[in-house]
Amino acid sequence: MNNDTSIDTPAVDIQTNNSEYKAAPSSIKKIPNEMRRKKFKADLSLHWYKRLINRLKNDFQFFRSSVQLAFALLCAWIGIEFYLFMKWGMSEGNVPFAERPPGVEGFLPISALMGLLHWISGGMINTIHPAGTIILVAIIVVSIIMKKSFCSWMCPIGTLSESLWMLGQQLFKKNITLWTWLDYPLRSLKYLLLFFFTFSILKMSIEDLNVFIDSPYNKVADIKMYLFFAEITPFALWTIIILMLASVVIKNFWCRFLCPYGALLGIAGLLSPFRITRVKETCIDCELCTKVCPSNIKVHQVGQVWSDECTSCMRCIEECPVKETLILRSIKKSASVSPFVFGTLVVGIFIAVTGLGILTGHWKNSIPKDEYANDQCSKHEWRNGSRFFY
Ligand code: SF4
Ligand code: SF4
Repeated sequence: MNNDTSIDTPAVDIQTNNSEYKAAPSSIKKIPNEMRRKKFKADLSLHWYKRLINRLKNDFQFFRSSVQLAFALLCAWIGIEFYLFMKWGMSEGNVPFAERPPGVEGFLPISALMGLLHWISGGMINTIHPAGTIILVAIIVVSIIMKKSFCSWMCPIGTLSESLWMLGQQLFKKNITLWTWLDYPLRSLKYLLLFFFTFSILKMSIEDLNVFIDSPYNKVADIKMYLFFAEITPFALWTIIILMLASVVIKNFWCRFLCPYGALLGIAGLLSPFRITRVKETCIDCELCTKVCPSNIKVHQVGQVWSDECTSCMRCIEECPVKETLILRSIKKSASVSPFVFGTLVVGIFIAVTGLGILTGHWKNSIPKDEYANDQCSKHEWRNGSRFFY
């Protein structure tokens, strides 16, 4: 390939509106016609469902957005079910009972982390928030095998974050990239938070973990979380608004700097056998891969992307204009894996692990309905957890 390239002929359109990154057009080499990668174009002669399948298979970002949408809808469904459960609980028995969705425990990361350590040290999955533990295990397994892909394929906060920076790009034509001297210390904040939580939990003995898991506080952790948002204080509301505004101007502000969950998955993802690999022989140095990377990784400078910030979003692969030059493959130098197969594996592994939890009876919690509330249960008791064992 190197023999076929000329140094001085710009051959690709670098006017993507995706980033503030400045590519260096003077150094771009020419792509021989047979190496030019064609962008996906829908075949309008096909039936709509064949067209849809074709697009899911070949338009990577469309496929990823579809998975993101499916998980966002799943979270919305869980939210509605939990709202109905709360309505029943706060009505003092005046509205029909609605089952509590176990999936809500996916939003209790501290309880889930304690549940996981309790499982590791005690050998048993707790029965208070078993789904939280199973979901956390599923996410960690996905990350160990498929890199930090949970963040850009399934996490609803990641989806919201991505929508916000894309909105920022539409509004201001670009996002802000922080100076390296500021970016590094800010990125370490999420690791400090992760260290703080894991260190606090690791200090606990199995007896302490048992006491916490069976405590009234933990039993109503999901209810407290609901009330935190349903009766949000001005301080909390303004904090969320500021974080969202920051995410409009700085890509993935929360995920990049503050999310301890993302920090954990970033570390787990370093173990993954999959790498984005740049074939140096065919690379034309157009830098489009770096330009579109939302994690600001200098893809065009490396042979393989091995970074705690890479979320396997596949934007770089989709943007590369040369065939088989930016590919996803295992470190064993196997054949490239298509982003469609990768995304299917991400979702498949998550469903397999959570499905195993459901099939083995580690999903619904053991708190009976009348322990949650009865005719005498007041809103106040419900809120502070004092209904339990008092
Ligand atoms: S390196 Fe590629 S896959 Fe990883 S975050 Fe950047 S654009 Fe996404
Ligand atoms: S790997 Fe990056 S720099 Fe090389 S051709 Fe592809 S997009 Fe351009």
